[in-house]
Amino acid sequence: MLITTISKIKETVSGWKMQGAKIGIVPTMGALHAGHASLIKKAVEICDKVIVSVFVNPIQFGPSEDYDKYPRTLDDDVRLAEGLGADVVFAPSPEEMYGKGQRLSNDNLTYVAPPFFYVDKLCGKTRTGHFDGVCTVVLKLFNITRADYGFFGQKDAQQFIILKKMVNDLNVPIELISCPIIREESGLALSSRNKYLDEQGKKSALALSQILNNIKNCYAKGVTDVAALKETAFRFLNESHELEYLEFVDKNTLEYKTKADNDTLVLIACKVKSVRLIDNTLIAC
Ligand code: AMP
Repeated sequence: MLITTISKIKETVSGWKMQGAKIGIVPTMGALHAGHASLIKKAVEICDKVIVSVFVNPIQFGPSEDYDKYPRTLDDDVRLAEGLGADVVFAPSPEEMYGKGQRLSNDNLTYVAPPFFYVDKLCGKTRTGHFDGVCTVVLKLFNITRADYGFFGQKDAQQFIILKKMVNDLNVPIELISCPIIREESGLALSSRNKYLDEQGKKSALALSQILNNIKNCYAKGVTDVAALKETAFRFLNESHELEYLEFVDKNTLEYKTKADNDTLVLIACKVKSVRLIDNTLIAC
């Protein structure tokens, strides 16, 4: 069932709550692929009722980012989500979420601001305000749906750590569940933005997972010096790549590491022919 209004989803949730159902939410921006599908499957496995939200959230995009051209495939998304056993696809308009005629800025709307330490690095460094927008919309979705469980992909590792921090700091009554990254056979992590890549771009995009795999192999052979591990990346890069960051952090706290250990998370962001892609891995897996 497709629901587009907050009043209708609240009414539906109230009915479920009265039956004592455990509710799961899978927040997405749509253009659903097998990565999203894995989250939906997990939610269906654990919960009695599952909501998949499809909302391209304007307040998490910077002015020069791809909000307008972000792929929108709602009919296909509804088919896929329902086929996997989701009960509701909640796809509100921006006006429904933020109010008609509202200026979408933090001098007009209440925003959730995650701690500077968590956002002043990795994706937050170049995407100013991105995580404020993410936390704000996700908290709104949690409040609207009163979900017991929220399902997120490890693909957006920094996002998951920041959302966990938000849930903990603001006592939000929900349990967050992180699901593994789904990849193409080639190793390329699935992403809605892969749609922007042509064949050559897809080949170049393999550098991200190759760099991460190579770092894992070097670590397994005993290399722990982060500077040395970073050096190994360069042979995978050419003029089609614009490396934004390759960083080594603690998997729970996002603290930078100079020596890698088993708790180290390696994250990469790279533009491939102007398409911005991200990937990550635990170094010891
Ligand atoms: P998005 O629609 O890109 O905002 O993603 C919605 C959710 O799907 C987020 O929790 C993502 O981390 C997750 N996701 C995106 N791509 C993948 C993937 N390849 N594997 C697993 N989860 C993913």
